Amino acid sequence: EHFTSKTVRRMFIDFFKEKHQHRAVPSSPVRPRGDPSLLFVNAGMNQFKPILLGCADPRSEMASYRRAVNSQKCVRAGGKHNDLEDVGRDVYHHTFFEMLGNWSFGDYFKVEACAMAWHLLTEVYRIPAERLYVSYFSGDAANGLPADEETRQIWLSLGVSPDHVLPFGMMDNFWEMGETGPCGPCTEIHYDHVGSRHAGALINTGSPAVVEIWNLVFMQYSREADGGLRPLPMCSVDTGMGLERLVTVLQGKRSNYDTDLFTPLLSAIHQCSKAPTYRGRTGEEDDGRVDMGYRVVADHIRTLCVCIADGVHPGMTGAELVLRRILRRAVRFSTEVLQAPEGALASLVPTVAHILVRGLIVEIININETQFLASLRQGRRVIDRTLSKMDRDDEFPAPVAWALHHNLGFPLDLIYLMLEERSATLDRLGLERLAARQEKVQGLHLDLQCLAELQSRGVPHTDDSFKYSYSLQQDGTYMFPG
Ligand code: ATP
Ligand code: MG
Ligand code: MG
Ligand code: MG
Repeated sequence: EHFTSKTVRRMFIDFFKEKHQHRAVPSSPVRPRGDPSLLFVNAGMNQFKPILLGCADPRSEMASYRRAVNSQKCVRAGGKHNDLEDVGRDVYHHTFFEMLGNWSFGDYFKVEACAMAWHLLTEVYRIPAERLYVSYFSGDAANGLPADEETRQIWLSLGVSPDHVLPFGMMDNFWEMGETGPCGPCTEIHYDHVGSRHAGALINTGSPAVVEIWNLVFMQYSREADGGLRPLPMCSVDTGMGLERLVTVLQGKRSNYDTDLFTPLLSAIHQCSKAPTYRGRTGEEDDGRVDMGYRVVADHIRTLCVCIADGVHPGMTGAELVLRRILRRAVRFSTEVLQAPEGALASLVPTVAHILVRGLIVEIININETQFLASLRQGRRVIDRTLSKMDRDDEFPAPVAWALHHNLGFPLDLIYLMLEERSATLDRLGLERLAARQEKVQGLHLDLQCLAELQSRGVPHTDDSFKYSYSLQQDGTYMFPG
């Protein structure tokens, strides 16, 4: 059975979506939106931070999520989670990687989260249980946190052998997003690449023989600016599994760089440089730093492609400065270590696009399509019903159009188009008036053109657009305040 990286990503999402009723949510861009505590998106949970903290706008679409699943583009090259120094030295830390994750927002908790993870790994991906180790939180007196004995029992009841269930402290088993923000005890799943009886002793030691693959965080606290822990209004589950590490396991490799996510890129680097062939397997047998050079260049060019595509350019401050540093490291390794000519880095872009961007784009389009299809059907019914009640000379009522836009996420240009196809005209003046009224009420400087523009440029609904309090009723009528 061969698992391509694309299949592995798809199977993860399908497992939670089809078997366990999770809502598939697209990856957000790596540039964080409206969160000054972050340089880059560093985990799948970043975009859900408001729900976890219990401060999501109650009328926002996000606030209705109970379960979610996604594959998130992450960059760990600055801030609390910074892996830049490890990249190239080992074979499983990247500056850019994809994090597969599932979430429960005040829905299921420890028992279900562990059971789902275990079933996915051992029954769907068919990883032998004896190769898996799990860790749980041992407690921390300084923070007044008890040991997570409950989780230990859950793993045992799932059939994990007692010598494969091990306790660790704050550093490894208490996950925090940043200096502040949601956090909680976690339980992690590690993979033994060697099959040694002593593998348990190598967990969290940095040995390439036993690598952490999945982290299940039980979100229960918020780390406040004063350093204290505030209990959250609800208990949530936040998990993250590195796609590259999982693919390595499933393709029977010892290194992320030996999987289909990297091998075409290493060949392309070989082609455009004068370096000997890449031969590093576990990162421990390098000579002359050539293998490390290959890994650094392969890693960094992926990060550059993804960041630039998401609007972070090499520059002089914040995330842009970090990207500049990454670019300069890549230039240094490609020329001085791999003897590649000027222009070699850019020549790798099509290979990255081929491997990565295509898979990601397919996933993003599919998830977005799924999200909108149900709304599209509902909106079509609303339009048909409204049209059937209209007289020949009537204009399509503005509040209905407005509700389609704000409640069901219809781009305005799509509404115009659908009405045009039915030879109906929209009460545009009325619509503009509604928008103007909202602008006044909300203090928002959004006009219709601006909204349409945002939509056509693919900018997702901001939370602001959910503040409008129109609601579309089941029977196709709308509720509109004042
Ligand atoms: P590690 O201990 O290996 O540095 P972590 O504990 O910092 O990992 P988490 O914050 O728990 O990682 O993230 C969840 C998962 O994301 C990890 O279990 C791992 O599979 C993956 N991951 C984390 N950092 C990286 C990275 N730099 N490159 C690739 N995958 C990563
Ligand atoms: Mg780490
Ligand atoms: Mg760790
Ligand atoms: Mg971890």
